[in-house]
Amino acid sequence: MAEALALVRRDLGTSAVVLHTRTFSQGGFLGIGAKQIVEITAAHRKDVGRETRPSPARPPRTQPKPDRARSVPTPEPMAGDLIRRTYAAAAAELNRKNPPPADRPLRTPAASPPPAPPAPTAEPLADEMRAVKRMVQLMMRRQNEQGPTKPSHGMTDTLFDQYVSLIEREVAEELAEEVIDKVRQLLDADQMQDEARVRATVLKVLAKQIPTDAGAGKLEPTADGRPRTIALIGPTGVGKTTTIAKLAATFKLKLGEEVGLITMDTYRIAAVDQLQTYANIIGVPLHVVSRPDEMARAIRRCAGCGVILIDTAGRSQRDDASLDQLKEMVAAADPHEVHLVLSSTCSQPVLLDTVERFSKIPTDRIIFTKLDEAISFGVLLNVTRKVNKRLSYVTTGQEVPHKITPGRSAKLAALVMGDQNTS
Ligand code: GDP
Repeated sequence: MAEALALVRRDLGTSAVVLHTRTFSQGGFLGIGAKQIVEITAAHRKDVGRETRPSPARPPRTQPKPDRARSVPTPEPMAGDLIRRTYAAAAAELNRKNPPPADRPLRTPAASPPPAPPAPTAEPLADEMRAVKRMVQLMMRRQNEQGPTKPSHGMTDTLFDQYVSLIEREVAEELAEEVIDKVRQLLDADQMQDEARVRATVLKVLAKQIPTDAGAGKLEPTADGRPRTIALIGPTGVGKTTTIAKLAATFKLKLGEEVGLITMDTYRIAAVDQLQTYANIIGVPLHVVSRPDEMARAIRRCAGCGVILIDTAGRSQRDDASLDQLKEMVAAADPHEVHLVLSSTCSQPVLLDTVERFSKIPTDRIIFTKLDEAISFGVLLNVTRKVNKRLSYVTTGQEVPHKITPGRSAKLAALVMGDQNTS
């Protein structure tokens, strides 16, 4: 392979871009005495992206290599089609993002051979090539695993565009496939040609993947007659205290309920001060507790309230002892709802790690904070689906008491699909 690559560099220079490599055995008997052939398809960098289909600058070179007879699986026969299809989809997406001047016609995935696209700059081109590579790998793997009848087979261009869009927005592959499969079941062949209809159906199906808490923003009476007791847990800095203040203001000022506030933060004095300031402004009492018996006592003191909100700032998720203490404190409060607070600014691995670490404490709801600074809404969707907890609230800014709304699946689905103007 190294020898063959050196030949490519010799012929095409340092601007060579390798588009495809293949290693296979030729001749011999039962693998004995066979020659290993390395096949490389390469092009000049400037030529990449000029055509809908990556084509070699010259015929594939073969480099016989007599030693080490080894059988290497050949690529799927569909690979060429897949590359053409995914590359065309990616190119269409590029056109959408950077429309060419009016006098230059748009490329469409179906056109063959299309007119040359506007010369892309190196950065978007590299992104596109990465997207194409990922899509080709994904589709080939899926073909290997599931056979040719599933699920890309018969996919219309419109649907395929939506699939590419979901993958680009970091929606997990399995989830994107599931959504696309469901959309195909819902639409007939004619409807599938209608871009707006396909997109609306994708949105609807996506929204159904997000379980939400119907009780968020309201205060339903509890079955045991106690004040609805709500605890927020999560890593330091995700916005628990701010969210508690927003909830306290919402329940007190909008719903007119008596609110009891409890904080068990004894390590971060500033956090107690911060909540005390909010409590004073909103006009609700704050109880500071540091042991489970104090927690139980504070809960009893709030017996006349409509709702009790418990802040748990100051516990390190890296420290098992702290998490055990937190678990005891939460158990002493016997809350009706425990919300795990996650920051939208975190990556998927960090979010899942947080969920895992806090799984010691039973939770049934999640809150996403800092949606205004979110890295990827697709990631939020993946996490919500994976942890299978109801989305109760989302927060969208630092200001108290505003910037908090009950989690709505349609809104999150729209954000995943790139619509920032949802209300
Ligand atoms: P805690 O340690 O989990 O209690 O986090 P805090 O409530 O102290 O918040 C940590 C930081 O996040 C503060 O600077 C908050 O103003 C900020 N914050 C909280 N919620 C949001 C939000 O929805 N959006 C943004 N951008 N910042 C937020």
